[in-house]
Amino acid sequence: MRILVQKFGGTSVADLECMHKVREKVLKALDNGYKVVVVLSAMSGVTNRLLDMAHSWSKSPDPCEMDVLLATGEQTSVALFSMILKDCGIKARSFLGFQIPIRTDKSFGRARILDIDKEIVQDVLTRYDVLVVAGFQGCDCEQRITTLGRGGSDTSAVAMAAALGAEVCEIYTDVDGVYTTDPNICPQARKIKKIAYDEMLEMASMGAKVLQIRSVEFAKKFNVPVHVRSTFSHEPGTLVVQEDKSMESAMVSGVAYDKDQARITLAGVYDEPGVAAKIFEPISGANIVVDMIVQNPSREGKTDMTFTVPKGNIKETIKILERIKGEIGAKDVLYDADVAKVSVIGVGMRNHAGVAAIAFSALKNENINIMIISTSEIKISCLIEEKYTELAVRTLHEAFGLDHEAVRTTC
Ligand code: ADP
Ligand code: ASP
Ligand code: MG
Repeated sequence: MRILVQKFGGTSVADLECMHKVREKVLKALDNGYKVVVVLSAMSGVTNRLLDMAHSWSKSPDPCEMDVLLATGEQTSVALFSMILKDCGIKARSFLGFQIPIRTDKSFGRARILDIDKEIVQDVLTRYDVLVVAGFQGCDCEQRITTLGRGGSDTSAVAMAAALGAEVCEIYTDVDGVYTTDPNICPQARKIKKIAYDEMLEMASMGAKVLQIRSVEFAKKFNVPVHVRSTFSHEPGTLVVQEDKSMESAMVSGVAYDKDQARITLAGVYDEPGVAAKIFEPISGANIVVDMIVQNPSREGKTDMTFTVPKGNIKETIKILERIKGEIGAKDVLYDADVAKVSVIGVGMRNHAGVAAIAFSALKNENINIMIISTSEIKISCLIEEKYTELAVRTLHEAFGLDHEAVRTTC
């Protein structure tokens, strides 16, 4: 049995006309001899509307019930699309996460997939040609519905592809592939034909929301080829696969940005063993993800500690720091929510010197101040004022020749 997994995002199932485009893609896959597992997101805007509703109807929405609520978005999509397929005589049925089941841990709102019962799916596939699976959702060991975090349908799709040994996982969206940067803010962005899992992982972690980070982790772990492409065209898109030699020729393959960053500074903390642990243990205990961290040189036994957290976690972080402030000798807790992180990414960086210098001088030419720098083997990130995000992205994109160079033409 040849299985193809096709995932369609919110804009691809936004209305009946879009769903007809989705049906075309499914029919083509059936014509090519595949059994098809279609993974759908909620119709565009629905998840946000449900979130707003929960926050305006409840002072502090219960996380378990929030997941029950959010999962209805995907439930609507799979029911409607299954009807559309059946109307044209296709043997199809819908599946919700708990019916398969897609087992997850109990982290409501950002659950991790633990396993998928592939026997049931394989058995059902002998009787049906298309299974229409609700993305973004699963259930914990007590049959409670969980959701996988924003953009989680990508992860549902790749996990299904891994479990079923699908030939490829196609991620259909509103752009026709992974670009050198977000094509919606940089018209010069170019489509990348082939990108390594590690590069895609960095792009996604640095804010390129075209794929959810966990979906790329899954794809890498289980070696699932992912093809990112458009629902609204027939063009081939971007293949996300294992690194190969052709990928090292470009020094930088993409630029990403993340506006969901806030900078927190603890001024004048003691510079002595254990202080960092005292600061970051309670923050991680509250499930807050700290990203960039810098500690300034010590003056008279005191130092400043600066780090970033997601904007939605500012209040909670400040509350924790106010509580421990005395114990670590901090004079002040300061924050700035008007910041963003811009990053340049590329496996080719390993073999090229001077990448950081090019990035810094490009930002300098536009008079953009860098507040924090962080690096990895294949990435350089700079925290800057949020209002310069788009300018910084376009400037870096140009500085690394991404506007003009034919980026990786091999496929
Ligand atoms: P879907 O609803 O189909 O899951 P998303 O909105 O989650 O779609 O992801 C697609 C969007 O990702 C694009 O519209 C684009 O604005 C954004 N994006 C950010 N960075 C990139 C990039 N490097 N390449 C392509 N798209 C990107
Ligand atoms: N509907 C969810 C969201 O909007 C999941 C997804 O679309 O992937 O984040
Ligand atoms: Mg998405």
